[in-house]
Amino acid sequence: MVKVGLSIGGGVGVLDSIDPRELVDIGFRSVFVACSEDEMRWHAERATAFTRTCKSVGLEVYAVPLGYGKVMDPDPSMESLYVREHPQNLQIDSRGRRCGKACPNNPAFLEWFSSNVRTLAWLLESDGFLWDEPSFYYSRGSWACRCQYCQRMFFAEHQRELPVDLDEDVTRFRRTSLIMFILAAAAAIQAVDRGLLSLVMPSSAVSSREAGLGTDAWNALLESSAVDRLSVYVPWQIQGREMAATIRSTHQAVSAAARAHQKSSLLWVGGSPHPRDKLLEVLQVAELAGVEHLVIAGHQTLMGSDAFSNFRKSLRRVIAQVS
Ligand SMILES: [Zn+2]
Repeated sequence: MVKVGLSIGGGVGVLDSIDPRELVDIGFRSVFVACSEDEMRWHAERATAFTRTCKSVGLEVYAVPLGYGKVMDPDPSMESLYVREHPQNLQIDSRGRRCGKACPNNPAFLEWFSSNVRTLAWLLESDGFLWDEPSFYYSRGSWACRCQYCQRMFFAEHQRELPVDLDEDVTRFRRTSLIMFILAAAAAIQAVDRGLLSLVMPSSAVSSREAGLGTDAWNALLESSAVDRLSVYVPWQIQGREMAATIRSTHQAVSAAARAHQKSSLLWVGGSPHPRDKLLEVLQVAELAGVEHLVIAGHQTLMGSDAFSNFRKSLRRVIAQVS
């Protein structure tokens, strides 16, 4: 039996247009609601109204903060007022340039971030938060962060200056820094409600060395008390891989790693009514493979599609069969 969830991006305008009872009728059991920094500043009450209705109809609700200094940065086009207004707290790359991401080791940023996610946890009725692809800046030939705080912390740990080359110590330092950041994030929401779950989605697009926390950092994440559940995106369409084999092997690897730490896992897949996404088949494969919780990304490509009205009936039938 697989629990099927849906991720919802696109902002509060999209949330206003969704009837959570319709999601329940289709068979969804959870929603992952993107909450962007700039929108939550002015329109948090619209997200609150949506999550409250979701809870009242029995959906599990997870908040996905986006923006907020852009340490969590799955979508580079996401705006962040914090990044625009606090250039002095941004990451510095190996060529000495400020990057469009706040530094997770900067104490002023950490304080602001903790206070903001705490507020979000107060406002939204949710079961937990998903930290979506926390990462340091990286591009071909340069990496971050070499700000004064990172330099000091690296020196304290290694008794040598932070090198300009991304060596093994730097790789480990970047990874540890991101795990400390997730610890601060989890502590902030759990200060509001100890029961709130902390989920992490490691970066799938780049290697761990580049991101600081890639899909090969599963064990480091699961070892941390900051992580209750590990969430892994399976981009089988992009990689041009065979769908069933990819879902099965990813699930086996993720769930074995999670179980070794008495934790659970969930998988994400891109989904739309288009036959190339094989969504109905994906659901059946996931159930047979033993996936506990499968999240479809996302609302816009699936229910926002013109083809959805014809697809709805078969989706509802298959979700009923597998969940
Ligand atoms: Zn830094």
